[in-house]
Amino acid sequence: MVRPAPTVVFTPPPTPNGALHVGHVGGPYLRADLYVRLVRLLEDREIRHVSHVDTYQSYVAKKAVEVGAEPDALSREYTRRIRADFDAYALRHDAFGDNRDPDYLRFLREGVQALTDVVTVVEREVPRCEGCGRTQLEAYARSACTGCLHDAYLNVCENCSLPQQVDGALGLLCTQCRTAAGGTTTARFLSFDARAVAAVEDTMRHRHGASRRASALFDRLGPHLALWQFESPYGIAVDDSGLVLNPWVEIFFHHTWCLLQECGVDTRLPFSEAVAELNRRDPDVIYFFGVDNTYYYVFLFTALAQALVIRPMVPSRVKINHFMHLRGAKISSSRGNVVWADELVGTAPVEVLRTRLARSCPEYAPRELADDGPRLSPARPVGVAPAGAGPRELDVVRARLADLVAVDAFSVERLVDVLDKGRERARAVGGDDADAIDGYLAHVCRELQLA
Ligand SMILES: [Zn+2]
Ligand SMILES: [Zn+2]
Repeated sequence: MVRPAPTVVFTPPPTPNGALHVGHVGGPYLRADLYVRLVRLLEDREIRHVSHVDTYQSYVAKKAVEVGAEPDALSREYTRRIRADFDAYALRHDAFGDNRDPDYLRFLREGVQALTDVVTVVEREVPRCEGCGRTQLEAYARSACTGCLHDAYLNVCENCSLPQQVDGALGLLCTQCRTAAGGTTTARFLSFDARAVAAVEDTMRHRHGASRRASALFDRLGPHLALWQFESPYGIAVDDSGLVLNPWVEIFFHHTWCLLQECGVDTRLPFSEAVAELNRRDPDVIYFFGVDNTYYYVFLFTALAQALVIRPMVPSRVKINHFMHLRGAKISSSRGNVVWADELVGTAPVEVLRTRLARSCPEYAPRELADDGPRLSPARPVGVAPAGAGPRELDVVRARLADLVAVDAFSVERLVDVLDKGRERARAVGGDDADAIDGYLAHVCRELQLA
């Protein structure tokens, strides 16, 4: 019997050029983890949290040069540390993809071939640093964003989400040599015309929860080029061109590969047959990610899914979070304004750490890391969740939690508020009613791994 299609929640694969900091943990990862746990607690349906590691990013090569390491060894070491960080914060994945798997790499090559049959790929001359030989794209170069003047790598601006175009970059500098490029080389780009951009906007307009960032992106995004393949000493090559693939295109295909597995599709099938089978299963896909990934998850992935007619890879909903701040500024390891995830491990029980980060979750705007606040659950011991009728306050708590299971309504802020208000009310009413409320809240907190 074919199992019913699950809801699959994807979170962005961390780049293995560093460990996780509290902004990563308290952003998409904790938010998605709490959502999946809540759905599992309250509803009898299959929901899965899936991710992997962003193995093929140029940032890995950049970091390797900076620390004098070999990129592949660096990637494997940070992959190990990232997974340890996930474990330390009880961020549970139901599946964790392996994008080095030879079967997947076969699927990737077939998918890339299928895509080139249906999209326009153009070649462009691009700057190349004569000092280090790096193509001045991705992590190898920075310039002022032509959309907002923010200092941006040559991919997508993290401040306004606009893709950076190779022509007319402002003050382009090699990130390794810190000099302007002297030479040129060739790179390949996907060309999206006005019609393709409009089709994605039309699809995603009501799926991003009125995100100001996504709306602003579509207000300004016109016909543009998105990197397809470029010359790099590190990355994933999918043909004999000698060029590596834009790592975000690889991420799209690895998400798709993971989705096939979650739906029980035979991944040995040829690409087109596997996709047809996935379309028949019709799983629900939700993406949780940070604003800096808005272009990729909202525009690029949808455009690729539409071009390849992989219908489930057009998400039913995206949940976009902002950046966590420390001392009033964005977390930045290069500026030393950072708290690494593993620095807090052991300073308090995991439930307390998760609660602190839940209170800091920057869902709607940048938000400061909260001080170590009060615990949510009652201090006195409580029994198991009461069955049957309880005080009317308990009905309110249950109803509010049930509302949050709808992904549109889900918010960590509201979840924490339900727990806070329930606890306060229990203190006010006292007696058996308080025991009933506290007992239920303790049960919820146990399942959600909150304090
Ligand atoms: Zn250079
Ligand atoms: Zn910008």
